Amino acid sequence: MITRRTFLGTVAAAVPALRLQPTPSTEWGSPVFDLHHHMRATPAASLAHLDGAGITKANLLTRGAVQDRVKAYMEVAPGRFTWFTTFDITQSDAEKGLTQAVKDGARGFGELKFHVAADGPELRRMYALAADLKVPVLVHFQEVDHFENEGTWSTGYAKTFESMLKAYPNTTFIGHADAFWANISAAYHNEAAYPSGPITRGGITDKLLGDYPNLFGDCSANSGNNALSRDPSFTPDFLTRHQDKLLMGSDCSCTDGHGAGVSQANNPAAARLAGKCVARETLTVLKASSSSAIFRKIVWDNARKLLDVP
Ligand SMILES: [Zn+2]
Ligand SMILES: [Zn+2]
Repeated sequence: MITRRTFLGTVAAAVPALRLQPTPSTEWGSPVFDLHHHMRATPAASLAHLDGAGITKANLLTRGAVQDRVKAYMEVAPGRFTWFTTFDITQSDAEKGLTQAVKDGARGFGELKFHVAADGPELRRMYALAADLKVPVLVHFQEVDHFENEGTWSTGYAKTFESMLKAYPNTTFIGHADAFWANISAAYHNEAAYPSGPITRGGITDKLLGDYPNLFGDCSANSGNNALSRDPSFTPDFLTRHQDKLLMGSDCSCTDGHGAGVSQANNPAAARLAGKCVARETLTVLKASSSSAIFRKIVWDNARKLLDVP
């Protein structure tokens, strides 16, 4: 089946000029690192998004043994991509695949998005392995379905994740998705995927970011954008408090870095970003809510440090 994405990827691949473009301008007043860019059908399709949104470098989120495809990315655009990897963590050979990928240059695990408990045996194995291999682990936390029978992912965040931060002090965690960001407010109890309105201070995520040096936050997707947009009286102080712990990410699937195509995978709950580029929207709210020094940390320096990007 030719999906819209495959089709566009094929078209982009036929336009070699795309990949000869220099590193994007400083549209945002700072170079930008996108921590959360799902690998696309072709390097050209990825570069179209980076260049369109003014993103300098991106971290490819991949799944399975994709070393050859990653290599093609590196050859087409040297220096513009790093990569994370994941395997089916419910299978016993996941550790083997992940270990090999890290040997081959993967800089982290992720995103880990499985129908398991945040403190269950499958993820615990991954937390331990990530510490052994000295790479960060990016986890998708979600307690509320976006559509019927979607299921939930890394469940129990609000109740149990702190115990994981304690149990695995040598593991570097990067939190992401609905439950991570909804719990920025103390008044949240899994009533909606993306709660709106004023934030009640003292939320679990705010507290964990402050208390645990091994926890970082990925600002990507509607979840991150919504959390940073819903209460303008909250955001600047939050960015200041966690200026060394937050990382710009898009999780955007638009084609051109301007909102064409589908930006949030037809997720009905994320309709507020339909027709928009998540990267642009989140860069805009970050820039409007922080000093230029803090903005630069969140969109560039923190990720480069954490992932050891040259
Ligand atoms: Zn995710
Ligand atoms: Zn986009």
